Amino acid sequence: MPYIVALTGGIGSGKTTVANEFAKLGVPLVDADVIARQVVEPNTPALESITRHFGKGVILPNGELNRQRLREIIFSKPDEKKWLNALLHPLIQQETQKQFQQINYPYVLWVVPLLIENNIHHLADRVLVVDVTTEEQIQRTLKRDKTSLEQVTNILNAQVSREKRLNYANDIITNHSHDTDLSGKVAAFHNQYLTLAKIKK
Ligand code: ATP
Repeated sequence: MPYIVALTGGIGSGKTTVANEFAKLGVPLVDADVIARQVVEPNTPALESITRHFGKGVILPNGELNRQRLREIIFSKPDEKKWLNALLHPLIQQETQKQFQQINYPYVLWVVPLLIENNIHHLADRVLVVDVTTEEQIQRTLKRDKTSLEQVTNILNAQVSREKRLNYANDIITNHSHDTDLSGKVAAFHNQYLTLAKIKK
């Protein structure tokens, strides 16, 4: 099993940007969002259970899950959200462990936006938080997604606060707009993680 470094941060903080810098150094990534989509691909047992439970209305014409529709259904129904999480979380964890085990490198960067919210931080050896101001998160997300301020605020409110997230951090990488040399910072953490991985062995 490789040493596991969880990379987390709020919406629009720069997780993907930072992860890409690690990938350039040859670090393998496991992406929690990708896994969350994989477990409900067409013809999976999970998608069949969801269809049985919520009806065919949550399936798109091409057979894929209509995530938007499902989000709307569970938004105001805590029991349904609980049901869905109970189905998906074990499957996601199983697939995550499988991907960790397949890695042939001293450490893995586990990109996991909802690490704290989903209470899975104990699965990582180390937590690296990408930190920017809330204002920067809003500006970048608005620019990137062409979404509304209300929508971004809703997502921000559903995530843990910047302060709470930082409480869980072993390491913090700031990604402010005025910061320079992100790749230099990533290279320094990379060397640190290679050393920590060696010590753990
Ligand atoms: P999400 O959780 O919403 O998927 P994320 O944390 O992965 O977001 P990114 O997609 O990496 O964040 O970055 C959000 C946006 O901000 C992107 O459009 C990215 O190009 C831009 N961005 C990232 N870092 C910086 C920076 N240092 N200065 C300016 N813009 C940046």
